[in-house]
Amino acid sequence: MSKAILELEKMPDACYGDGCPFFKITGICDILSSRNNYMPVLVPREGRHPDCPLKPKKEE
Ligand code: SF4
Repeated sequence: MSKAILELEKMPDACYGDGCPFFKITGICDILSSRNNYMPVLVPREGRHPDCPLKPKKEE
């Protein structure tokens, strides 16, 4: 089974203001932008972007 390469203390509920390390103050997601050939991808004001790649950890 593949293993996460990064674990966050808390799953962000929203891109804005919830401590996501990939959110940039200009309203851009670093991960989604890198997957978009480094063209900036703006995130919604509320909640997480529908293509957010963060996944909750499955309890084992
Ligand atoms: S889409 Fe996901 S990874 Fe990107 S800024 Fe929002 S919460 Fe963070």
